[in-house]
Amino acid sequence: MLKFQTPNGMHDLLSDDLTEFEKAKKTAAKIADFYGFEMIETPIMEFSALFEKGTGLSTDIVEKEMYTLQTKGGDSLTLRPEYTPGIARAYIQHGMQALPKPVRLWYFGPVFRHERPQAGRLRQFYQLGFESLGVKEPVVDAVIILMAFQFLKSLGFRNLAIDINTIGDAQCRPAFRRSLLGYYRNKQGSLCPDCKRRLKKNPLRILDCKDERCSRFKKNAPQILDFLCKECHNYFKELLEFLDELELPYNLNSNLVRGLDYYTKTVFEIYEDTEEGRVQGSLAGGGRYDDLVRLLGGKDTPACGVALGIDRLLNLQKGGKEENEVKEKEEKADVFLAQVGDLARKKGLKLFSDLRGSGVKIGEALHKDSLSGQLKIAEKLQADYILIIGQKEALSGEVIVRDSKTSNQKILPLDKALEEVKKKIKNN
Ligand SMILES: [Zn+2]
Ligand SMILES: [Zn+2]
Repeated sequence: MLKFQTPNGMHDLLSDDLTEFEKAKKTAAKIADFYGFEMIETPIMEFSALFEKGTGLSTDIVEKEMYTLQTKGGDSLTLRPEYTPGIARAYIQHGMQALPKPVRLWYFGPVFRHERPQAGRLRQFYQLGFESLGVKEPVVDAVIILMAFQFLKSLGFRNLAIDINTIGDAQCRPAFRRSLLGYYRNKQGSLCPDCKRRLKKNPLRILDCKDERCSRFKKNAPQILDFLCKECHNYFKELLEFLDELELPYNLNSNLVRGLDYYTKTVFEIYEDTEEGRVQGSLAGGGRYDDLVRLLGGKDTPACGVALGIDRLLNLQKGGKEENEVKEKEEKADVFLAQVGDLARKKGLKLFSDLRGSGVKIGEALHKDSLSGQLKIAEKLQADYILIIGQKEALSGEVIVRDSKTSNQKILPLDKALEEVKKKIKNN
């Protein structure tokens, strides 16, 4: 008698698994809510051309890992190997370009990749992701990284470290690419078969290759940092300053390129450092994709996102889940944080993260430049207290604390403000 089994690399989720999945999803939902991300679910299948164009023809995903089928009507459809191109499509299709920016979306659902199950890889697995579209500001990248970091922490991961790099943009990457081509051309014969192919189409990927035949050449390879245009250079520098302010631990890794065509500027992965090193591979990965929406026929829309593989995380998970649970979002915030100017924004982000970490319901509009625009949002959130950091306060390390009811305000050092606000909220 024939015994049916699940296909290779795919498995059932039984009651216990589903309980864990639901918990992870709930945690993700709280973080998403907190930062103003709305959920989206796109179809499990899309036209194959969307991934060929979006994810990129020369990527491993499109070259080797897609489940594609021909419909009876003659269309070519593909089970989504990742969410981002579908989200960019939905963004265009539903006219989200007209919405206030950034448009912040998150997702949680299965993706499909025809990978090698013998290497422990799944062919159907769940991905969680956060995508922020419409704003080209390093603070957006910093918040995306922070969210992934907080999610991992809430699952119990410790000693997390962020590998970060920039891969430039259409202005500066071509020169870097040419230089890489020049460097690897006479080494082509000694590269692994994949990289031999990559050399022409996507030489950046060679930097990412773990094969000893390729990795031994990395040391003397050209460095992207030497090729960055001014915009990319400053962008990266500002992002690192934000990460410093947030006290997020990061390593500069100039070999990190990520395997997808659509990335521009920022790319990052999050790891857990254990005594044996980084045995688990990356826990989260993402980056900026400023050209994807336009590439798919939409308006110029800078964007940044991150994705995490849930099945794997739950397998690795170590407990201690409750520690960093995020408070439920209600319509009201205790405190609203307003800031004016770049320096203020950096200082503000740290204060924001501290207050949030101590369980204060805090609202922000870090993407809005004008103070009046921010205060309008504060009013909507009915914040009891408003913290304002202007240029002057940012320089002196102070913050204005305003009581919304009485309109009384005073200026306090940043750390004092934190204590004061916590006390006031407790007494309310
Ligand atoms: Zn290689
Ligand atoms: Zn550039």
